[in-house]
Formats: sequence, C-alpha cells, structure tokens
Amino acid sequence: MAREINVALIGNPNTGKTSVFNQLTGLKQKVGNYPGITVEKKQGYCLLPRGLKANILDLPGTYSLNACSMDENVVIELLLNKNDKDFPDVVIVVADVENLKRNLLLFTQIKDLGIPTILAINMADQMARKAISVDIKKLEEKLQTKIVLISSRKNTGFEQLKELITNYSLLSTTPCLNASDIDPEYFNRLRKAFPNQDLYKLWLVITQDVNFGKLNRQPLLFPSDFKTESTSNLKRLQQKETILRYLFINEILKKTILIDKVNAKDLQSKLDKILIHKYWGYIIFFSILMLIFQAIFDWSRYPMDFIDVQFAALGEWIKVTLPEGVFTNLLAEGVIPGLAGVIIFIPQIAFLFLFISILEETGYMSRVVFLMDKIMRRFGLSGKSVVPLVSGTACAIPAIMAARNIESWKERLITILVTPLTTCSARLPVYLIIISLVIPDHRILGVFSLQGLTLMLLYLLGFSAAIFSAYLLDKILLIKKTGFFVIEMPHYKLPLPKNILYNVIEKTKLFVLGAGKIILAISIVLWVMASFGPGKFNEATTIVREKTSSQNLSEEAIDAEIASFKLENSYIGIMGKTIEPIVRPLGFDWKIGIALLSSFAAREVFVGTLATIYSVGSKEEETIKNRMAAEINPVLGTPLFNFASGISLLLFYAFAMQCMSTLAIVKQETNSWKWPIWQFFSLTSIAYIASLIAYQLLK
Ligand code: GDP
Repeated sequence: MAREINVALIGNPNTGKTSVFNQLTGLKQKVGNYPGITVEKKQGYCLLPRGLKANILDLPGTYSLNACSMDENVVIELLLNKNDKDFPDVVIVVADVENLKRNLLLFTQIKDLGIPTILAINMADQMARKAISVDIKKLEEKLQTKIVLISSRKNTGFEQLKELITNYSLLSTTPCLNASDIDPEYFNRLRKAFPNQDLYKLWLVITQDVNFGKLNRQPLLFPSDFKTESTSNLKRLQQKETILRYLFINEILKKTILIDKVNAKDLQSKLDKILIHKYWGYIIFFSILMLIFQAIFDWSRYPMDFIDVQFAALGEWIKVTLPEGVFTNLLAEGVIPGLAGVIIFIPQIAFLFLFISILEETGYMSRVVFLMDKIMRRFGLSGKSVVPLVSGTACAIPAIMAARNIESWKERLITILVTPLTTCSARLPVYLIIISLVIPDHRILGVFSLQGLTLMLLYLLGFSAAIFSAYLLDKILLIKKTGFFVIEMPHYKLPLPKNILYNVIEKTKLFVLGAGKIILAISIVLWVMASFGPGKFNEATTIVREKTSSQNLSEEAIDAEIASFKLENSYIGIMGKTIEPIVRPLGFDWKIGIALLSSFAAREVFVGTLATIYSVGSKEEETIKNRMAAEINPVLGTPLFNFASGISLLLFYAFAMQCMSTLAIVKQETNSWKWPIWQFFSLTSIAYIASLIAYQLLK
C-alpha cells in the first residue's frame, strides 16, 4: 500500500502558491470549504518516488502567523493543531525570489514551530532579468533547511522539490529564533507555568487570542499565580518578535543574495507610472472595463444563439420521436428548456472570468485596488472592496466571500451589503434578452452598438448604486472602524494560461453545479405547475371548442387557444394572476409576475420560466426571443415587451434582492439573520419604486 504524507503549501499572497499547487497536482485536485467557514480549501495529491503519495493542501495566502483575518486564521489553526487530520508532515513555504525578506518572516515562524519546512523560492525565471543571484548553499546553512529554486511558469525545479518532499524526515527542525529572546522574563514565567509545552507554540496561542479572537481549541488554563500580561504589552512583545526576526533575516540575506540594480531591466516602474497615474490610470481602467463588456456582449452572442437553436431542435426531436405522453412532455417542455437555460450562460461566464483572471494574473488588478483606494475610502469602503465589487459582476456569492480580506469589520459589512447591487452574471441573460427586445440594434459612430452601451449603462448603474448605498451605510451604521490597509503590489507578469484555464473551469463548474441545479429543478417544478391545474383546466378542450365553435378558426388557432386557456388556468396561472395587481403598475402581466416570483430562487430562472411558460403548447422550433417578442399586452393590445415595460423590468432586476443563495451567504458571513432580511426588504422596495417611476413616466 502507498504511504501517505500531508504536505501544506504556505506563503505570502501572490508568491505563486496556486501555480505551484497546480504544477504539483495537475487536475488531481478538489476544492471545498473549511468546515463552518467559507474560506476556500484546495486539496490535491501528487505521487512521489518510492511509492509515496503526498496529499497537498493549498492554504490561504498569509504574511505571518500573527493572523488578523479569517483566511490567515485557517493557517494558524492548522499548524497549532497536531490532531487535525490535515496536520502537515512537512510544510513547503513558497517564496517570491524578489520579496525574499518579507517571505522569510513567515518561513522562520513556521520553522520555529518544529515542523519540517522546505523553502521553495519561486519565480526563478525572473532572476536573470532582474539581475538577482542567490547563494543557495549558504542560505540553506543559515536557515538550516533545504531550499529549492523553482519556476512554476517554466516548470523547473519541481523534480528536485518532489525529491525534497520525499526525504522530508531528514530536515532539521532547529528553530531560527530562540523564543525566550523575545522577553526572557515573561517567557521564563511561561515555561514555569506550562512546563510541558513548546514555548513558541504557546506564545502563538496566546497572541492569537489577542489578535483575532479565540482559537477553536481548549482555552489555556493559566495557573492562579500567573500574572497575565495586558493586551497592549502582548502586542508590544509581538512587534519585538517581528523586529528580531527581521534582524535575523537581514543579516542572512546580506550574505546570500545579490541584486544588481543597475543591470535590472525594470519595466515595472515604467508601467506603474502610467497605470496608476492620477488621470491615465482611471482612463485606462475604464477603457478596459468597456472593452470587456463589449466583448462579452458581442462574442458570446454566437455560441449562445447556437445553444438556443440546438436545444429548441432537440426538444422538437424528442416530441416527434418519443411516444406521446406525460414523460415525453416533461422531457421536451420541462427538462430540455431548463437545461438550455443553464447551458446558455456558460459562454458569458467563461468570458467574464477569462478577463477577470487575466487582470488578476498580470498583476493589474492590484493596481486597480491601489488606484481605487483613495476614492473608495470616501464612500466608506476600502480599496480592497474593489475586488468583491468587481467579482460581483460574476456572482455575489464568491464576491461576498472575497470580502473576508478586508480587515475592518465595518468596511467588510458595508461591502457585503452593497455587493449584490453590482450586476451579477445571473442578471446578464435577463438584461440581454430584454435589451435585444426593446433597444434597437443601431450602431453609434459605426462602432459601438447601442445595445452594448445599454448593457454597460446597466453595469454602471449597479456599481453606482452600490457605491452610493455604501456612502449612506457608512453614515448610518454605528460601528467603529478598525484595521489598516496593506496592499500587495505584485510584479507585472504574463499570465499563466494554465491558471486562467483552471479558474475559468472552476467558476463555470461552480455556476453549473450550484445555480444550475436550482434552475433545472425550478424549471421542472414550473413545468409541472404549468401543465396541471384544478377544475376548468381539465376541461380546457371542451370549453374552448364550445366558445370558438362559431368563429370558424383553423385547427392550429384553436390549439393555440386551448394552450393559452390551459396556461391561464394552471396552478402557475392562478398564482401569477393573484400577484398581477401588484405588478401591473410596473407594466408587467401575470406571466412576467410568475417569472418574477420564481426569480427569487435565482434570477437566471427568469428566462427559463418564460421559456417554459411560452413553450407549453407552442411550436418548438421557435426561440425564446421570438416567443417573447410576439407577446401582446392583453389590456393595451401593444407588444408586452416595449420600451417602457422593458426599462421597468431592467430596473427591477438591477435593484431587487432576488437570490436566495446570496441571502444565505450573507447570513453566514455576518452571522445573523438581521442583515440578509434587512437587505432583502430594502433592495426589493427600491426596485419596486424605481420600476414604478420608470414605467409611469415612459408609458
Ligand atoms: P498565489 O496568490 O500565491 O496563489 O499566486 P498565484 O499562483 O496566483 O500567482 C501569482 C502570480 O505569479 C500569477 O500572475 C502567476 O502567473 C505568477 N507566477 C506564478 N509562478 C510564477 C513563476 O514561476 N514565474 C513567474 N514569472 N510568474 C509566476
């Protein structure tokens, strides 16, 4: 049987940990969550020489073991808990060759816990260009460990790294710093109070409680005669520890690393001058955004139309081929349109994440954070809120989770509360279909499509609404601000296609398996509700035939009449009619009413719902869009989807809190029902009022 060991990948953010993880595990990875919290847990395995299997855990990026965010807390929890099933037999600290000093701080802390620790210095490919040279032998001596130079971009050094992992048991575990040097008197007392404990570990437990909140472990039982230090004193000692460590590291690096500044061909500073320029920076950022949204609109149209047509054909084929009956109808009218409603989003989601990952991978996203910090502060947000707000364009769920990076609780809460206002990908299909119905397909100056511009305006609307609400919340919420802003400025890099690919696949999978399941399930429920009904529903054919007998209609027209009669009297029709009086002032009919109701499970259900409703009894080869365009407002006799009702619908979707999954994640992240409930009612009221005003003015 293969022998298994646990390997933990730890490092500062942006050192290439994820790339190293991808290189080591390939596709043998799975992504989950840590129990009870939503920090992402990435695991995979890698087969090593001599039949050894290494279970590799990619931990969240952290600067030190003095955690101040939930992400960092995960690392400490693991390293202090020998009984954890993931407790590492060996840690690989991934460091960036250009930031060795800061990276080594974390390394020395981990090594001092007595865990075998390998130092993997990544981005070796940059060394020649930046004229950096490292004396590995000497550095190994000084740090008393094994070191390997790797490049996950060029895929070099990994064989050696695997060799080192295999031989992990030979690594020295001598600490870098003698813990009692931090404060001999205090540590002496600690040693006496807890004679059997490892001093440095003990110290981390104590300081962790000071920094972040209690660890998830047995509280320390101090002997009654032990004089505990005040929090401020402990913080002072912690700073002293950091200083001692940096002294140690500086001393070592002086002798082992050489950077020839003169010969460095440094593009970075030149690029930074433009990209974070006080005018050009913003202009470039917004041009990039605009380009992205034009691209999403233009490029994804082709695969989307293709998917739409193919599924319509498939539904028709099933109806013709399979024996007539409830099951065939369920398949052709419930399951297939439902699946189409999921798959049709894949092109957009993939494109969006392609762009977001490229921006992140190149290092540009960090410049955006830096650029935006000054502005965001004015609205009660932090520069780091840009990442959740921008990722909110894909889905509010990962975005709200990304807010965990924000140190200040108040800024984090505000970010969580306003993120659902940014335009998530689930709104995109609703926007796209309504825009294509009510906005003319003109081009301005021959280049920009009017429809694309409308889409961009909607994104801007969402973003401005988020910023404006943040400003109000900053004034309203009586929470004290704490924390400070640390920003990582990684070097510019060509993106690694593998990282981007994995990210796009992962996010698409997340959508299909998460939201997709809900969409499909609701499509089927809706089909059932639309295909069955009480009383009159079951006598539809007789009633309609009697009513139309004098009108001399064709068979086809009668069939359509029957279908629409059935729909009106089905369970769903009854529900939709019940809420019609509430939505009529917004320009909607009962069919849209039903779609709105079902959207509260997930917005993207809207199109699927209409597809299901309209496909009941109608010709399969028609596409959803054509069916919608043909709808007539029963009261006015004009097309149901006209400019006024279209804009009203767009506004409703822009503001309303129509996503149960988001509410659930907000509950989890704020640890209370208060915020999601509050969010639900305030956003839905704003949506109703905005749509009401728009429709009444435009109609
Ligand atoms: P993490 O934040 O530590 O997980 O780091 P990532 O794996 O996301 O990488 C951060 C950035 O460094 C990305 O832009 C990668 O493409 C880049 N990167 C990773 N490894 C290397 C490398 O060996 N050489 C170079 N030049 N860039 C790398």
